[in-house]
Amino acid sequence: MTTTYTARPIAPRVLKELRTTDDAGRPTAPFTDTEGGAPLRCCLGRSEPGDRIALVSYAPLRRWAAEKGADPGAYDEVGPVFVHADDCPGPDTGAALPFTNAHRTVRRYSAEGHILGGRLVEEPETFEQAFAEAFDDPAVALVHVRAVEYGCFLYEVRRD
Ligand SMILES: [Zn+2]
Repeated sequence: MTTTYTARPIAPRVLKELRTTDDAGRPTAPFTDTEGGAPLRCCLGRSEPGDRIALVSYAPLRRWAAEKGADPGAYDEVGPVFVHADDCPGPDTGAALPFTNAHRTVRRYSAEGHILGGRLVEEPETFEQAFAEAFDDPAVALVHVRAVEYGCFLYEVRRD
C-alpha cells in the first residue's frame, strides 16, 4: 500500500540526546529486550528479541515546537516511548504506514501547538483518510498517532 503521508520517526539528533538523558531529565537505562515486539519510535517497527532498547520519556510536541518556534504552553506532554539504545538505521523509506494494526487516535494540533481535536481510527486502511480529513482543515499543522488504551505517542505526521 502506498502512502501520501510520511510517518516521522524521532529525529536522529533528538534520539542522540534521549539515549543519554530523556525529556523528563532522567538518565536513560538501556536493557536487552528478551521478548521483542516493542514499538520502536526510532525505526517505526517492532524490536527483535535480543535488541538493546530503552524506555524513555519523550515530549513530541515540545520537540516539534522548538524546531518551529511555537509555544504550546500547557499542551506540552511527556510520555513513555521505546527506542533502540544505540544508533540504528531508522525506518525503511517508502514503507507502509507503521503501527496500523490496532485502534489509534489521530490527534490534531495547530501551528501554535494547541490541540484541535482528534479522531479514533479503527481500520488499517482508514489512516490515510483520517490524515486527509485532518489536513483538510487549514488550521491543522500536524497530527500525532497515538495508542488508544495507553495514550502513548507513536509518530507524527506533518502537513508538509
Ligand atoms: Zn531503531
